[in-house]
Amino acid sequence: MERFYDNLTGLPGMTYFYELAGAECKRLIALGNVPAVMFFDISGMKQYNHKYGFRQGDDLLISFSALITDQFGDENCSRFAKDHFVAISDNRDLEYKLHSLFDEWKKIVDTLNMPVRVGVYEIDTASTDIVVACDNAKVACDMLRKTYISSISYYDKKLEEDIERKEYIISNFEKALCERWINVYYQPIVRAINGCVCDEEALARWIDPDKGFLSPADFINTLEEAHLIYKLDLYVVDRIIEKLKKIRAMGMIPVPQSVNLSRTDFDECDMVDEICKRVDAAGLDHQLITVEITESIVASDFDYMKQQVKRFRDLGFQVWMDDFGSGYSSLDVLQDLEFDLIKFDMRFLHKLDDGRNGKIILTDLMRMATALGLETVCEGVETGEHEAFLKDIGCCKLQGYYYTKPLPIERILERYSDNDHIRFETPVEAPYFDVLGKFNLYDLDWALESEKEDFDRFYNSMPMVIMELSNDSVRIVRSNASYREFAARTFPRNVGSEFERFDTIPQQHRGSFLPYLIECADTGKRIFVDEHFPNGNTVHTFMRRIAINPVTGIRSVAIAVLSVTEDIKTVTDI
Ligand code: C2E
Ligand code: MG
Ligand code: MG
Repeated sequence: MERFYDNLTGLPGMTYFYELAGAECKRLIALGNVPAVMFFDISGMKQYNHKYGFRQGDDLLISFSALITDQFGDENCSRFAKDHFVAISDNRDLEYKLHSLFDEWKKIVDTLNMPVRVGVYEIDTASTDIVVACDNAKVACDMLRKTYISSISYYDKKLEEDIERKEYIISNFEKALCERWINVYYQPIVRAINGCVCDEEALARWIDPDKGFLSPADFINTLEEAHLIYKLDLYVVDRIIEKLKKIRAMGMIPVPQSVNLSRTDFDECDMVDEICKRVDAAGLDHQLITVEITESIVASDFDYMKQQVKRFRDLGFQVWMDDFGSGYSSLDVLQDLEFDLIKFDMRFLHKLDDGRNGKIILTDLMRMATALGLETVCEGVETGEHEAFLKDIGCCKLQGYYYTKPLPIERILERYSDNDHIRFETPVEAPYFDVLGKFNLYDLDWALESEKEDFDRFYNSMPMVIMELSNDSVRIVRSNASYREFAARTFPRNVGSEFERFDTIPQQHRGSFLPYLIECADTGKRIFVDEHFPNGNTVHTFMRRIAINPVTGIRSVAIAVLSVTEDIKTVTDI
């Protein structure tokens, strides 16, 4: 008796079930039905035992066995091990029966979150081995590992191919590294205010001699699940280092390179140490390497990841949060973790056309990131409209097919040697542009620092603009929407986004505004200006120099239009 039946539930044991199910399978096929083998996995059993004890856990398993025998009959069900059960039935009304089972189970476990995952394998020929059928049903069930409600998964051709592909990836991975089937492509990231390439992101591609081009979607998850991804990520770091050395050997100055990291990287090795060792051995500056970490990695183990982010940053590596907005808990993560930059997930942009809400949300998130002192990148920029919108809301950097797709190393090196046509930013200039990019044109705090009372009487949705001055010319680099509206209403002709020589700008500005702008740029003084117009209006502005480009000597000045009145006032220096 014991040999055939499970002691706890009284159901047939595994070996006996194979015998019974083999016979049932033949019977169903003879009747013209399609037999289906089901593999059941109860989630959360371990925690339940831990909380309520094994005896109560056993009672729960007995209750479950009663539910499946109610649906499929005593001799057609088995307990294979722990919380794993198997059953065979014909496939008619199968989903209905399984959903009734889920409903009954929910009544038993009540508020506890203990979903049942079911894998189903439908048998199409009498010659199918019942053991294989049970294995396949388990494989289908395993696909639901990350599902947290009771669900059903069918074993089908696609699943079979997926499994085959995963096996191929895992067994050929080492070879793919050695033979350099894995290539690193690079996607340039462009600075919004100067259109120059300011960073490049390294993205892995597997170019297989048999299977052809494989994109990260085909292998990243598999390597993560197999805990092998750290080898890929360190390989990518090695390729980046090779690339940086090549660019230096060409006499060019490279922009920072970013590498994507996965959660399991940190389980397998000391990632901070490994990357640092490699970069140091190559004699490269840490600022040339940026680490991209997704929000979900951080959320998976907050305190540990907080430490790792800090370690990277203390060593001088930049850390970016990738795919912001693709998961949960975005906002509180930002409050507690110190990143250098937030990269907005491309779904924000791709949803923009759906309606106004997308624009409102992205605008506010951008404002919030800027207020937190973070830089911003938006990925997935595919059109001129995307670019214009992002520039308008103050996104610092832009990445997407609109500029270029990820490119192989040869193409990237060509772009460096073609520096005449494609402009790259030099790292010494980067902090200057960081200041300009991060400057919040939707918040007056920069002006309020010490003169709060003076400003309280002015309206708060300020037209604001940033102007750049060289020795003899001036241009607008950034402005907010209310400034553009204000300028269109007020000035017959205003300075544009290209440099214009001082002597060509309209006489009106040249007399009452320009001298103060130049003085502010030269001396760094904060200046209030009252600019009088022929129609009797006076425009009150406040200006402050915010940064100096160490390479070109260009100075940038932020200007806020405080109010427009008909009073005539004089210029006041402060
Ligand atoms: P990610 O880090 O968010 O990378 C951006 C992805 O967006 C890249 O896909 C890139 O090719 C794609 N992309 C860029 N611009 C556009 C655009 O304008 N439109 C559209 N539709 N897509 C655009 P890719 O290379 O397929 O990489 C997908 C993900 O795989 C990456 O997302 C990253 O999470 C992961 N990944 C890629 N390479 C590596 C790696 O070496 N290590 C690790 N751990 N993960 C990697
Ligand atoms: Mg990335
Ligand atoms: Mg991303």
